[in-house]
Amino acid sequence: MSEQITARGRRVLVLGTGGTIAGRAASSGDNIGYVAGQVGVAELLAGIGAPAGVELEAEQVAQVDSKDMEFSIWLALARRCAQALAEPGVAGVVVTHGTDTLEETAFFLQQVLPGDKPVVLTCAMRPASALSPDGPQNVRDSIAVAASPDARGVTVVCAGAVHSAVDVQKVHTYRLDAFASGDAGPLAFVEEGELRQARPWPQAGTGVHAFLQWPHDLDPPRVEILFSHAGARGTLIDALLAERTQGAPGGIRGLVLAATGNGTLHHEIERAAARAQAAGVRVIRATRCPQGRILPKPGDPIPDAGALNPVKARVALMLELMGASAA
Ligand code: ASP
Repeated sequence: MSEQITARGRRVLVLGTGGTIAGRAASSGDNIGYVAGQVGVAELLAGIGAPAGVELEAEQVAQVDSKDMEFSIWLALARRCAQALAEPGVAGVVVTHGTDTLEETAFFLQQVLPGDKPVVLTCAMRPASALSPDGPQNVRDSIAVAASPDARGVTVVCAGAVHSAVDVQKVHTYRLDAFASGDAGPLAFVEEGELRQARPWPQAGTGVHAFLQWPHDLDPPRVEILFSHAGARGTLIDALLAERTQGAPGGIRGLVLAATGNGTLHHEIERAAARAQAAGVRVIRATRCPQGRILPKPGDPIPDAGALNPVKARVALMLELMGASAA
């Protein structure tokens, strides 16, 4: 294995962004009353031995609770990943991250990075100060994936499972095994540092998205998510349209409708969505169901996001509106 690592590079860059994995509580028995994003990434690596032949480097990109994740951090993270992955000596990148928006960051990175080398996001459900924290093992497993000569694409490693960025979703509020990949299932499992593959790694993309190379910061187009539900009304959509018509900065450009079942919408939402489309807002439907995909019907007036959940559909729509299709 170490000869193959050398062929691809032996360095694994570990980028810190905060989260519970870097969280601290006042007492070691407290697994929920902590402050996320307190411990630096270099400290998270202390005591985690690198696999033979692998060199670890740590860098702090951000230090936030991922519930507060922002596009500016995604941009900095994606740019740093793209730069590192282009270096021949780098085998892969690990990103430590909070669990709350992990699937959004993973999907964003998957959409904008080349995918020929592994980028592995990892996390913890218990803070670093816990009696028995889960972060160190997750980091260790992630390094094994990032250093693997076979791995590629953006993945999420948690509780011994490797999930693809497209399928992964946080499914539990406090269990250590908090992520699942729905119908698709995990890509692989990490067993004592060895990978047992369950299905093929994601296909490599075609290159880095152009906007990562633009030197300036970007304001992403505003895309909102609205739920269809029992008793729903179109008033929120109309309020967003009114704001857009008044020419307020950052007016809505895209709308993801979190639809029931196979992409169905309350008729009030359907009518308001038609008004939004007529006003030039790009509207898509994503299912609220945690599993399955929307099966389209001929003549559907609002396009669907297939198997993407609403938060990932929002990322996809933002990138589409940015004209950031594959470079
Ligand atoms: N609020 C935390 C975060 O997303 C939760 C976690 O990491 O588990 O940063």
